[in-house]
Amino acid sequence: MWTAIYLRQKFPSKKILVAERGITPAGASTRNAGFACFGSPTEILSDIETMGKEKALQLLTMRFEGLRTIQKVFANGAVDFTVCKGYELLDDIQVLERLPLLNEWLYDLTGTPATFCQQDEQLPDFGFANITHLVENRFEGSLHPGKLVNALHQLAVKMGVRFLWSTEIRAVEEGNNGVKLTTVHGPNLIAERLVYCTNAFSHRLLPKVDLVPARGQVLLTEPVPGLKFTGTFHYQEGYYYFRNLNDRILLGGARNTSFQTEYTLEQFTTLPIQQALEAFLYTMIIPGQRPAITHRWAGIMAMGKEKMPVVEQLSDRSFCALRMSGMGVALAPSVGRKIAGMME
Ligand SMILES: Cc1cc2nc3c(=O)[nH]c(=O)nc-3n(C[C@H](O)[C@H](O)[C@H](O)COP(=O)(O)OP(=O)(O)OC[C@H]3O[C@@H](n4cnc5c(N)ncnc54)[C@H](O)[C@@H]3O)c2cc1C
Repeated sequence: MWTAIYLRQKFPSKKILVAERGITPAGASTRNAGFACFGSPTEILSDIETMGKEKALQLLTMRFEGLRTIQKVFANGAVDFTVCKGYELLDDIQVLERLPLLNEWLYDLTGTPATFCQQDEQLPDFGFANITHLVENRFEGSLHPGKLVNALHQLAVKMGVRFLWSTEIRAVEEGNNGVKLTTVHGPNLIAERLVYCTNAFSHRLLPKVDLVPARGQVLLTEPVPGLKFTGTFHYQEGYYYFRNLNDRILLGGARNTSFQTEYTLEQFTTLPIQQALEAFLYTMIIPGQRPAITHRWAGIMAMGKEKMPVVEQLSDRSFCALRMSGMGVALAPSVGRKIAGMME
């Protein structure tokens, strides 16, 4: 929808149409954890190691600018955007030793010498167990994914973007006069240009793109009386993440306990991952308490050999903006702007 909005802005006289297979948006955007996610030190340091410093910081810049765009375009209240601060839980001192250098690298982006700062003294107030260090990031926030999708849809409609729901594209054929999109239930569509924004679900239409679907699972507890922490929290390079959502605990991740089973397009929760999340909840987040789990859900992310999104022109008439590596809430505004910028 960000792509459609930027295209509408750039080409006011063109017809812009979003074809979506679900009766409402059926991908990760309505199933994520609602982190307005800057990123945690272990995650960023790992990205620097695998992608190199320049690319990792470029990716971080896209996220940072994306979050700013969300706040500029929508009133915080409309999407429940809260700059609640983010924290990383650490049990390893090595990362702390690298914080000064990381902060130096981030200075140009955030304009502050202490993007990340050690805040171990807050740990007793939060009530976690088995954690020795805490790092705070005041740029991180949270939002309501459903409200964001709704707000984007309303804005796009207001700008004249058209939506076709329950319209799954089964095949694409490019000719001299346009792109023919064969839909599962018909009728077919003809477009002058096409942008694939199909993220994790792209393989059937774009088998050559380096992309692997990765399931993310989440649980939500009943309200926990006297819950001691607020903010968003990351552990182990973001493989575990949780936040206080109106005094409930929203907890997701644990994909690193079973990578192979989670490379899937099946959008349902599984016992092993849910058990891993519950173990983390009861032993580390709220030791000694056992609130009921009221909701469990799964969504599908798109990963690849590296974390940079694929924002490319594929042919004369086709483009793609996909592979959001589990951070598409933050990345999508920058990705949408970039792909619109590439189209003439
Ligand atoms: C559990 C979980 C937690 C997450 N937490 C966060 C987070 O806290 N912060 C963050 O930044 N990101 C998070 N993410 C990642 C984020 O949700 C995604 O990166 C982002 O939503 C991707 O947006 P998208 O529009 O590219 O893809 P999607 O939202 O997946 O949209 C793709 C759409 O394409 C449609 N589609 C696919 N194929 C076809 C077809 N052939 N024809 C028609 N329509 C089709 C799908 O139905 C879908 O609606 C999380 C993801 C998950 C699963």
